[in-house]
Amino acid sequence: MKHHHSILKVALPVPLRRCFDYLPPRETGSRELVPGMRVSVPFGKRQLTGILIEVSNSTNLSTSKLKQATEVFDEAPVICPNMMRLYQWCANYYQHPLGEVFATALPALLRSGKDKPLRQPLNYVLSTETESLPGKHLKRAPRQAQIIDLIKDHPHGVSEHTLKTLGLTGSPLKALIDKGWVQAEVVQSRHNKNPDNILAEAPLTLNDEQASALDAFCGMKDDFACLLLEGVTGSGKTEVYLQMIEQVLGEGKTALVLIPEIGLTPQTLARFKHRFNVPVVVLHSNMSDLSRLHDWLAAGKGEAGIIIGTRSAVFTPIKSLGVIIVDEEHDLSYKQNEGLRYSARDVAVFRAYQMHLPIVLGSATPSLESLHNAETGRYQHRALKQRAGNALIPGFDLIDIRSRPLQGGLSQPLIEAIRKELVRNNQVLVFLNRRGFSPTLMCHECGWMATCTRCDTRFTFHASARQLRCHHCNKTNPVPNQCPECKHTGLNPLGVGTERIQEAITGLFPGNRVIRIDRDTTRRKDAMHELVAEVKKGEPCILIGTQMIAKGHHFPDVTLVAILEADAGLFSADFRGLERMGQLIIQVSGRSGRADKQGRVLIQTHQADNPLLNDLIHTGYADMARQLLDERRQAGLPPYQHAVIIRAEAVKERDPHDFLLQTRQLATMISTDKQLSGIDIFGPLPAIMPKRAGRYRQQLMLQCTQRKPLHQLLHCLSLELETLKASRKVRWSIDVDPQESF
Ligand code: ADP
Ligand code: ZN
Ligand code: ZN
Repeated sequence: MKHHHSILKVALPVPLRRCFDYLPPRETGSRELVPGMRVSVPFGKRQLTGILIEVSNSTNLSTSKLKQATEVFDEAPVICPNMMRLYQWCANYYQHPLGEVFATALPALLRSGKDKPLRQPLNYVLSTETESLPGKHLKRAPRQAQIIDLIKDHPHGVSEHTLKTLGLTGSPLKALIDKGWVQAEVVQSRHNKNPDNILAEAPLTLNDEQASALDAFCGMKDDFACLLLEGVTGSGKTEVYLQMIEQVLGEGKTALVLIPEIGLTPQTLARFKHRFNVPVVVLHSNMSDLSRLHDWLAAGKGEAGIIIGTRSAVFTPIKSLGVIIVDEEHDLSYKQNEGLRYSARDVAVFRAYQMHLPIVLGSATPSLESLHNAETGRYQHRALKQRAGNALIPGFDLIDIRSRPLQGGLSQPLIEAIRKELVRNNQVLVFLNRRGFSPTLMCHECGWMATCTRCDTRFTFHASARQLRCHHCNKTNPVPNQCPECKHTGLNPLGVGTERIQEAITGLFPGNRVIRIDRDTTRRKDAMHELVAEVKKGEPCILIGTQMIAKGHHFPDVTLVAILEADAGLFSADFRGLERMGQLIIQVSGRSGRADKQGRVLIQTHQADNPLLNDLIHTGYADMARQLLDERRQAGLPPYQHAVIIRAEAVKERDPHDFLLQTRQLATMISTDKQLSGIDIFGPLPAIMPKRAGRYRQQLMLQCTQRKPLHQLLHCLSLELETLKASRKVRWSIDVDPQESF
């Protein structure tokens, strides 16, 4: 092994948990090679773009076998040391190849290296001598004159983007630059220049609970601390966030706000933009690659005051970050269920810890994990129990539907209650978390049921489309005219979906406006927006919706919320079923009501005596959550245990089982070898849905009260699994802190 060589350790987007060694490219010019730069390298028959992780003077291979990197793209690293540490932490914590962490974390254009070297957005200004230049110099070059005039009108300069839009880039611009009349400047940070004038509108006067939350926040600055802000919907959490951000901006720092879904929260976005005189950057998955890259770079240079984004925004480099706020921290959309299976909330907490920053987790229905952290004193905790501005919290009632006839899924007392609200010109929201007409189509004669051939599940019957659809693999079939088994023609829809509710309600309340919001009625772009706007006009109507309407929106004119079949959570095969049920019921209820119209929530259930359901509606989510935590402690479930699921799926039924059996044996061997104790291994067992989209699925569950031995085991195990022969026959994944057990 020779030591005078520089060896480049490069992370590549391949499913292997290690870096690859290369020799530096022939041409590096005068550049120093620094970690965080993008490198193009030969890999097998392909050419890949990777990230330089380290420049080392040793390698385990003989240097004569090393290939040479083809090219280094960047003059300066595109990943700063802090973000590099965050990405490396993710790779370690989630047991994911570092090169593939970059694939999730970085904007597509940055990864591909197509935009090389990475261009900084430029601003064009006049050089001093141009200002005294007589106009006649450019008589023969009208386009150059145009550019000069334009820049003269904009003393702070004209952006490259503007010039491009006006068609003025290219040779005329180049000529001016060559003559030294116009010069390019890298766009300077616009934010942070004027902290005296950050407010564009006056903040509201906080009530006592809100003030206490803001106080807690002010006490935790300049070091890592986490505040759990538990506040019922409408209690003024957003106002508290705004005033926290005001503090942060006042210090010339930047705020990062994570929200579950962009489409759902236009009003919230507007409030952030209205309050402050600082640029607000919004990052989400529906952006073009180019604007995503642009905003990413802008955030990194400190051009934004506030960065608001969904899940992956947690990976954005941000100059002088001062706070992270995670709104609706319990929301499942923060967890990515493929590739890098990270939780943006948890990554945010680590990021705050690593950077010594305060972080705020807000929710009306906090996750049991966060409540547990509050109970053990790891997080501070503030509760907002009242709705701000005098709006009332809705009253709850259960409707026992055991042995009651239902009309299209609706009981008589519910129908009466809806009628009353409509007579008073109010709006009603009917929530059912199942789209389609009915979840089952059954033969009345022989009991045959339409099932998906690719999944272990029934087809959902969609009446208006005359289709059977599988909601798990999207397979569709025409509706048969007769039973394929007994040829009987009496096929019956069993159970209700939103489509059927709509039909029933239209029949029961003719002449009333019925608006259905679910995935089927909102496929067209803007459809969701239009339907919501329609409801917000405030005219009497019945709104039927799935969980698409359960978050974000506030419908002030809804005075009655009817929840159908939410008690399914009581029988869920997932131990989180009850927690989710509580969250869903409270979130749906939170859509309604305002000061002058108290809302009412009716829950139709077969389980009207269920103590948990009664606790939830009489004493609230917080009490129910404490009880659930108690049960989890007794049962030895998360958050009292740390869990990991290793999943495998394959077309051949035996393969996932074989693979996971070997995985289990390896895990046991490694645990013994390394003297790792206290790790429980369950399985391999079939997943809750044993076959999906034509693949058989099994899983292995690992649990331990300590994180450290579990992660030590996983670290060794994942490397072994990469080389295991049986792993080539399956798709496998490691899910650390899984949120769903199927
Ligand atoms: P949340 O984010 O908890 O749902 P919001 O911050 O959106 O609550 O507040 C709900 C409503 O109450 C908003 O219309 C907001 O303007 C109003 N509000 C919030 N705080 C106050 C306050 N201190 N005084 C008066 N109105 C308030
Ligand atoms: Zn039949
Ligand atoms: Zn299917």
